Amino acid sequence: MISKRNLVFLGAPGAGKGTLAQILCQEMKLAHISTGDILRAEIKNGTELGKKAQSYVTSGGLVPDDLVADMVAKRLLEKDCQNGFVLDGFPRTVNQADLLEKALAKIGKKLDGVVYFEATEEILIKRLTARLMCRKCNSIYNTLFTPPKNKGVCDKCGTELFQRPDDSLETAKDRLKIYNEQTAPLVPYYKAKKMLSTIQAEQPKDKSYPELIKVLS
Ligand code: ADP
Ligand code: ZN
Repeated sequence: MISKRNLVFLGAPGAGKGTLAQILCQEMKLAHISTGDILRAEIKNGTELGKKAQSYVTSGGLVPDDLVADMVAKRLLEKDCQNGFVLDGFPRTVNQADLLEKALAKIGKKLDGVVYFEATEEILIKRLTARLMCRKCNSIYNTLFTPPKNKGVCDKCGTELFQRPDDSLETAKDRLKIYNEQTAPLVPYYKAKKMLSTIQAEQPKDKSYPELIKVLS
């Protein structure tokens, strides 16, 4: 069992935070809040928010802080967050971190910890450009490291897998640059608040998962 349950997962695109968040949330009954997944769903459904976010997401840029912060604040009110939650992909700027703290204070909650997934740029590029995703259940695969049992098809639901347009080599490089400029400053930010635990993200997930459980215990 884990004692830290209100969590932020921090790390570059491709660090594997989404994959570990899916496993952890399922096992520990936490709400998995992936801002990337929510934004992609809003875009697919053609909502107001989706229309505003579309150009940023497809180009690999960041959606404006206020839009994402409001979206997360709303999500945190849902019932499944009572038992704890993992914010995966939020905050991505120091300003978003401040907005998150305010939103949590408003509903009488606070973060228990921040897990930082550390990996070299070389691994990140390799992982991102080999990533495949399920259209239906959002499961994540990787043709190099964690291929599906049947080529191009989701193990869990049988749906066809696809490569996200923002996982092409060029856009992946742009996203890493944006990460280094805008999101990486959150590492010293949360370290200064004594909230940060670091996981080496380069190892396979059967090694990093027990490490994750240990830092959350
Ligand atoms: P990854 O972590 O692999 O980069 P995500 O699925 O988390 O991908 O996010 C995909 C895209 O959604 C981002 O490139 C960005 O455009 C948008 N996005 C997701 N979360 C945020 C956020 N917190 N702030 C701004 N934009 C975001
Ligand atoms: Zn699926």
